[in-house]
Amino acid sequence: MGDLNIDKAKEKAISAFLKSQKGVLSANEIVEGIFAGSTKVLGQAITLLESTNPQHIEIATDVVNKCLPKSGKSIRIGITGVPGVGKSTFIESFGSYLTDQGIKTAVLAIDPSSNVNKGSILGDKTRMENLSKNPLAFIRPSPSSGALGGVANATRESILLCESAGFEVIIVETVGVGQSEYLVKEMVDFFLLLMLSGAGDEIQGIKRGIMEMADALFVNKADGTNELFSQKAAQSYKNVLHLFTAREDNWIPETGTCSAIYNTGIKNVWDIILKFKAQQTTNGWLAKRRKNQSETWLLEQVNSELKNLFLQNNEVQKNMTEITEQVVSGKITPYAGSKILMDFFTRNLK
Ligand code: GDP
Repeated sequence: MGDLNIDKAKEKAISAFLKSQKGVLSANEIVEGIFAGSTKVLGQAITLLESTNPQHIEIATDVVNKCLPKSGKSIRIGITGVPGVGKSTFIESFGSYLTDQGIKTAVLAIDPSSNVNKGSILGDKTRMENLSKNPLAFIRPSPSSGALGGVANATRESILLCESAGFEVIIVETVGVGQSEYLVKEMVDFFLLLMLSGAGDEIQGIKRGIMEMADALFVNKADGTNELFSQKAAQSYKNVLHLFTAREDNWIPETGTCSAIYNTGIKNVWDIILKFKAQQTTNGWLAKRRKNQSETWLLEQVNSELKNLFLQNNEVQKNMTEITEQVVSGKITPYAGSKILMDFFTRNLK
């Protein structure tokens, strides 16, 4: 949360919003709005989560703490795949399928590329046009800037807020090209990988590690002349998945085909998720996975705060350049250099 670099205009907008609410909107008022299911208040609370302003952070932390007892009841689904595979089209179709059954669905996003080009995978307003108008859906674009760790942290807490606002399915979308998949895997119950037929794995940029994380792998765009190829591709993925070692949680990843445009295979994905949920509830892994995730999150948070403390330490800052020079010129090893800096840090902790 702390290292997000929200832009000035956004900070100003939040401050204006807070002022318009009789000075500072209290955490209790925000929580009340969230519990009442107000997507407007929910959106504002998430904006506070993404802020770097200490006052906003204080309110946001209070809000999350108060929402915690009401959170945790959704099924959290991560969706990944390379740009163009059809993620947003799929989510539009899948989300509509769910809301048609009265299931409240929230869509959040983590987009590492938004750091670089200031774009956002959900930033484009034309994406998920129908779902975004659906009263049972809530769509939140990825923060348009900030360190990936901070964005992930804000997303984790946003999941909790969405759950306390009554959302039963939370979808976290990310681009299948790197670090963000691992972060998303650590915050969801079920991980869906969308693939294409006819493109080599290298072209799709999907690493083996990402395939190993998937609970289901679906080949999208299985329509028209592509249908048969997609079925063949799904079969080869099934064969590949069988080569991976058996999982501790006893889940055997499923494969299939879908067409996000023609709405085929969508029900199949949901049925698999329900089957997963039932199995993993019975064998205790749904709860165990969430506990492990909380533990990881705690350690990550400590790690990042320690790192900030270290880098902000006066003595470390004074000596950093010189020690770095000694390391890069080969006078001392990086190990020795880090020991010296750690000494400066621990001696000057108080
Ligand atoms: P994203 O970048 O992964 O979010 O992909 P999009 O959802 O934006 O889709 C990329 C392109 O693929 C768009 O032109 C979609 O219309 C198209 N597309 C998405 N799903 C399907 C599908 O199931 N079948 C076909 N034929 N095209 C699709």
